[in-house]
Amino acid sequence: MSSKFYYDDITLDRAHQLRTDDEWLTANLTGESAGSNSHIIPVWRDKSLVFTDEQNAAAPQAAILRGEAAELIRQNAATLVFLGLEGDAIYYAADLSHLEDPHSLPLPDGAIFEDLRRLATALDPIDAGYLAYARALVHWHRGHQFCGVCGSETQAGRGGHDRACLNSDCGKVHFPRTDPAVIMLVTHPNEDSCLLGHNKKFQGLRYSTIAGFVEPGEMLEQAVAREVYEETNIQVVDVEYKASQPWPFPASIMLGFRARAISTEIICHDQELVEAKWFSREEVLEMADGHETLPPTNLSISRWLIDGWLYEK
Ligand SMILES: [Zn+2]
Repeated sequence: MSSKFYYDDITLDRAHQLRTDDEWLTANLTGESAGSNSHIIPVWRDKSLVFTDEQNAAAPQAAILRGEAAELIRQNAATLVFLGLEGDAIYYAADLSHLEDPHSLPLPDGAIFEDLRRLATALDPIDAGYLAYARALVHWHRGHQFCGVCGSETQAGRGGHDRACLNSDCGKVHFPRTDPAVIMLVTHPNEDSCLLGHNKKFQGLRYSTIAGFVEPGEMLEQAVAREVYEETNIQVVDVEYKASQPWPFPASIMLGFRARAISTEIICHDQELVEAKWFSREEVLEMADGHETLPPTNLSISRWLIDGWLYEK
């Protein structure tokens, strides 16, 4: 099975039963003899470690460290998070954010901290999934050092999958959050075109499917209809779930839908979406051929939703 999307980390066994096995965690994560099978993914302030070779214009590679390099990171990490298993290999995220300059550590040659989002699709998709998972959990730990209920300090538990408040009168246990976002391919009432928008945050003249966050107390289908209407004035029906893509930037999951428009006049109300248009199949194919306008990147759920419509007939 290959990755359908970036960041979908399909090959890792999250082995949740080991998160509460203190003996195993001590032997393999924090104890003195831990580390022989460790694969460590360092994270520094939302940046991931990658090997670059710009002189030879080679694609960057995820730096998943083993042996001495891993041990150095393990000893310097503020928090270690058990991510899961792949065969005998034990994967951890290591938070180095407390260091002013992580390059003060003797990191392997060519290893630098980079923004995973900026690297976009240059990395191997499986590795990108591991780095995204590590980045998301480290991001959560950094933002939850103090209890949101009483303000006391918290401490990581369950192999780094929760943080418990140290105030015994409170004792609230906090868990990592994932915020649902909907992303939808809207088809024209006569089915010959689809609705795509250009967001001012996009690099280049890129057009993509409409997306937005789910609000508290809202069904996903309602969120799809509300976001499309809010952003483009288009009313939709027949909202149908298709697939999902983890989007840990910092903590979302994209839930992909198809929906059918019952109105056609586009008015962009949203300040971020600067333009939305109906694109025929021919116009979408022209974008993919490298014209001035660009489609969403490969292995993104947006591109997959568009391709699903493009090639269904
Ligand atoms: Zn508390």
